[in-house]
Amino acid sequence: MGVDLHIHSQASDGTLSIAQIVEKADQLGLSAISITDHDTVAGIDMAIRESADLSVTIIPGIELSCVQDKRDVHILGYFIDYHEEELLDNLIHLRDSRASRAEDMVNKLRDTGLDISYEEVKECAKGGSIGRPHIAQVLVKNGQVVSISEAFNKHIGAGGPSYMPKYVLEVTKVIRLIHDVGGVASVAHPGVSGVSEDFLLWLKEVGLDAVEVWHTEHTEAQTQQYMELANKHNLLRTGGSDCHGLGKSRGYVLGSVEIPDEIIASLEARSLEIHTLRNKS
Ligand code: AMP
Ligand code: FE
Ligand code: FE
Ligand code: ZN
Repeated sequence: MGVDLHIHSQASDGTLSIAQIVEKADQLGLSAISITDHDTVAGIDMAIRESADLSVTIIPGIELSCVQDKRDVHILGYFIDYHEEELLDNLIHLRDSRASRAEDMVNKLRDTGLDISYEEVKECAKGGSIGRPHIAQVLVKNGQVVSISEAFNKHIGAGGPSYMPKYVLEVTKVIRLIHDVGGVASVAHPGVSGVSEDFLLWLKEVGLDAVEVWHTEHTEAQTQQYMELANKHNLLRTGGSDCHGLGKSRGYVLGSVEIPDEIIASLEARSLEIHTLRNKS
């Protein structure tokens, strides 16, 4: 039992394939998982197919990045109608922008004398949503740094010499988009993003439904804090490992965070409400 609602696959910057993720979730006996890739829903259909004869349920999900008041805020969407054109159009634009940003970052790295080409980065992303982890992996492969963390610390971390911000949608737009496709919006790893009570209230005002209470990087105190804030402000709770697979500097492990099964029913109920409201308007 247990669930994991925050997992990245090879469709974005994770290293596990969809088949590996579903197999692992099944072995662990998880009742539900969500593949929440950055800016893509490309892994969801395959996950549903892979799980057909298993007891693990796949909840369609996504993770979208935003910047608000100079802070990174990530929004997770659950129970999204992931075939809707409005969503897909926005995602194509986000992924195209990721690709050109990666190319620009590669040029900056080359300007500082490092051995890397955009072709290699594209190859590493295997047709999926390109992110800085792919650039980091190529830098490791080419012997330009010894580890993924060194790549981030020295070159491509925020503020680093070859860092470039990516194009993102506004938080209000992201939450609206998730609602438009029947999804439930949750703020990801609020402890990591430094989400205050005031900011959480603002997010709620613009439509936020839930808070990611459980996350690999949350301390017990943070988990408690966000659980209380969620209860106090009538927000739903979500949680996940944020697993990016093996070979990552931050080895978040699939299924390693204890998260109660009950959260699924409340998320599904909220999604049904959102669908009903959408059909009325
Ligand atoms: P991007 O969306 O292209 O800006 O890349 C952000 C992703 O890079 C995050 O989702 C993480 O997977 C990864 N990441 C960010 N910071 C680090 C870090 N310091 N070390 C390793 N991976 C990181
Ligand atoms: Fe990531
Ligand atoms: Fe995130
Ligand atoms: Zn994530």
